[in-house]
Amino acid sequence: MSQVFHRHCHTPLRTAVRGDGVYIYDQNGKAYLDASGGAAVSCLGHSHAGVRAALHRQIDQLAYAHSSFFTTDVAETLATRLTDRAPGDLNHVYFLSGGSEAVEAALKLARQYFVERGEHQRVRFIARRQSYHGNTLGALAVGGNAWRRAPFAPLLTPAEHIAPCYAYRDRRPDETLFDYGQRVANELEQSLLTVGPETVIAFVAEPVVGATAGALTAVEGYYTRIREICDRYGVLLILDEVMCGMGRTGTLFAHEQEGIHADIVTVAKGLGAGYQPIGAMIASDTLYDTIADGSGFFQHGHTYMAHATAMAGSLAVLDALEQEQILARVNPMGEALMSRLKARFAEHPHVGDIRGRGLFQALELVFDRETKRPFDPRSKLDSRIKSAAMALGLMCYPMAGTIDGHRGHHILLAPPFIITESQLDELTDKLAEALDTAIAAVI
Ligand code: PLP
Repeated sequence: MSQVFHRHCHTPLRTAVRGDGVYIYDQNGKAYLDASGGAAVSCLGHSHAGVRAALHRQIDQLAYAHSSFFTTDVAETLATRLTDRAPGDLNHVYFLSGGSEAVEAALKLARQYFVERGEHQRVRFIARRQSYHGNTLGALAVGGNAWRRAPFAPLLTPAEHIAPCYAYRDRRPDETLFDYGQRVANELEQSLLTVGPETVIAFVAEPVVGATAGALTAVEGYYTRIREICDRYGVLLILDEVMCGMGRTGTLFAHEQEGIHADIVTVAKGLGAGYQPIGAMIASDTLYDTIADGSGFFQHGHTYMAHATAMAGSLAVLDALEQEQILARVNPMGEALMSRLKARFAEHPHVGDIRGRGLFQALELVFDRETKRPFDPRSKLDSRIKSAAMALGLMCYPMAGTIDGHRGHHILLAPPFIITESQLDELTDKLAEALDTAIAAVI
């Protein structure tokens, strides 16, 4: 029996021994096409020479220096590179070791900002149902994933949850996409008025929802309205780009495509591309200046924040994305993936929706296409698809989401940006076979 405390106590795991490009190899030499980048992490694939060299150089020079004693050139340069590219006045980067840490830091910074302004009564967050912002208690509290929250509910800080922007499921037949977006955005205003806007710290949302809803984009006008409501009631807007950021949807920051500015943005997965654990919270001038001119100290911190090796790795990732034109591949390869998915699954009796942006795409699975009835959660369709895909040498990311109390299924695809057309063919072929094998076992 393994002494490693794995996520699932009774599911044996293969041993990963090597990575090369878009493939991971197990202990038997079997190749797995990484169609999900792990969990939308490995944007450069698994053996990028420039990142490996940068990591070696940094470890040889200085692996780590505690952030309360020193900054490093790599941290300073990485922060400048990120803030040069971030929309609006997101000019202050706080480096962490992952996505949940970035979200925790964002929640705490937002609260401290109001405390420093004397607005102590602001104590709650508003987020959306069917969202995931991390597994630490603060991040779990804002997340709207009922299943993940359930065992810990009594420990979670107050948060309200409004509807996600989920046109495939919730748009009324007589409603335009735009009107639908306005209606669900207006739920934020209703929620604020119910709880008292003066008690709310921030609204938290993923610009493109990843794990819990499967590459779910908002309809046009939704985020503009959300920003208007936040401004009207003096509530901050925290955009969680841990999964959808760092080029995954075609632009370095996903919310660039929504034409709005955020008060805080969190990024993680693609920032380190899997070469080092890293996350970041990027805050606006207003937030930073309030604390700098107030207490002068953000009451937070972690031992490994701004870890020099992680900084060097991430800087090399950004170099690869921009200088090697890897980011520029996301939209054309995303179109190539989408056209294959549509060709293969548009008529599939159990694929209800095919959606996404850039190389962040998903199939939503339904038992019945007409009624959109999901598969029974007890079917464990998600784990069956994962097993069938792994048997075929494919890593994809099937999930059981939450649909208004019922659980539905989707498969998230987030391959490395270096994926080629022939590898997309392999992906689509194997995905189709895995899906049909898994569905045949449950109907
Ligand atoms: N936020 C979002 C949107 C995520 O998708 C995730 C992880 O999947 C997190 C936060 C938490 O990140 P981590 O697993 O690195 O703690």
